[in-house]
Amino acid sequence: MTIIVKKFGGTSVGSLQRIHAAATRVATFRSKHPDAQIVVVASAMSGETDRLLSLARNLTQNTYPRELDAVAATGEQVSCALLAMALEDAGVPAISLNAFQLPILTDQQHQSAHIERISSERVQNELAQGKTVVVTGFQGITAGGDLTTLGRGGSDISAVALAAALRAEACYIYTDVDGVYSADPRIVKQPRRMGKVSHEEMLELASLGAKVLHPRSVFFAMRYKVPLVVLSSFSHGGGTWIVSEDRIMEKPSIVGIAYRLDEAKLTVERLSSTSQPLKLIFSALAKEQIGLDMITQTGYSNGHTDISFNVPDEKSERALHIVQQLVPELGARGASLERDLARVSVVGAGIRYHADVAARVFSLLAGEGIDVRMISTSDIRISVVVPRKYCEVAVRVLHDGLIDLSETPGEIPVESVSVPAV
Ligand code: ADP
Ligand code: ASP
Ligand code: MG
Repeated sequence: MTIIVKKFGGTSVGSLQRIHAAATRVATFRSKHPDAQIVVVASAMSGETDRLLSLARNLTQNTYPRELDAVAATGEQVSCALLAMALEDAGVPAISLNAFQLPILTDQQHQSAHIERISSERVQNELAQGKTVVVTGFQGITAGGDLTTLGRGGSDISAVALAAALRAEACYIYTDVDGVYSADPRIVKQPRRMGKVSHEEMLELASLGAKVLHPRSVFFAMRYKVPLVVLSSFSHGGGTWIVSEDRIMEKPSIVGIAYRLDEAKLTVERLSSTSQPLKLIFSALAKEQIGLDMITQTGYSNGHTDISFNVPDEKSERALHIVQQLVPELGARGASLERDLARVSVVGAGIRYHADVAARVFSLLAGEGIDVRMISTSDIRISVVVPRKYCEVAVRVLHDGLIDLSETPGEIPVESVSVPAV
């Protein structure tokens, strides 16, 4: 039998009315495709995970990752049980299951746990008995029996991983937009919806801030060849399939602009320009799980240089403290921090082939008088770090200057069990 996984995000189960609407959608699909078995993955009702985490924040200044996960995991338990009841009301036999009842096993990295194994027997048994199974997104459990969560936005990962484990025909992600756009529709007025986007480009867009899909869900879809589609839970039509690159015939050279608001820049001044100090700095930061991926070296003279790198804004004070402690050992002059920055990224496989994209990016930014603080490029991405107050302007000017709006997506089959090959 064909298995279809349908994931409903926070806004799609954000009220009792929306839970009813989601249940009706599943019921309609089921009546059109009586041979398909359906697994639903749901997020917590929108705002609920924030509310739960703020309870803990208001209780104590200390961080207790294990207990935070136990608190946060309750949001999905509620929405999934409600959704199962709404499905029953809509005439669909249903059962809700917490991830730990399967189980979805993860490592012990609380708040950003990685899935290690999924046992699908319980789900298969319930499906075989004619049930639609509603599984909590976002959660997992360690081999030792502790609840974990997969990181914010992690229900997408649960859905795709479950689809892979069940060898599902497809994984449908229902959200509040009808697909993946060339920029966040909240920032750009008329972005272009893509009919298809490649795994590689989607992974880049998602990692660089387009939160419509969690990057690790795209990674799972690519690795396990799960056909993945983004759809609106509020309307019919539209949709974006995430497919392998060679399935896309007509490719726009730039697929989209993404942004993140959480950047800061740390500079270490007059550092000996040998590799030893760099090793010291970056291993100290890695030990504290502080990631970075942009490093610039400037002002080389007499064997000394300044280095700057990006750090997530929320961890930037901690990163500065770590580096300042190393300053005497490094023989550097000092370290400084610039906060309130944003990273704006242009993504597209065409960057590989069109040498003029970088020139166009910098001339568009210069046209608006936007200062660029850091730059990083790959063959499918150009990222710039700019003051946060210029982020929206930068996204719009790059979108208007680089995206070809005449390229409309072709017709694609959505909400059917015959899905395009990936
Ligand atoms: P859910 O709760 O369903 O998981 P999210 O809020 O996580 O939904 O993701 C959907 C949001 O992603 C949209 O409301 C939109 O503002 C945002 N978004 C950012 N970039 C893009 C993009 N390129 N295409 C579509 N949506 C985007
Ligand atoms: N409820 C979780 C969050 O708000 C997971 C998700 O929505 O995907 O991050
Ligand atoms: Mg999400």
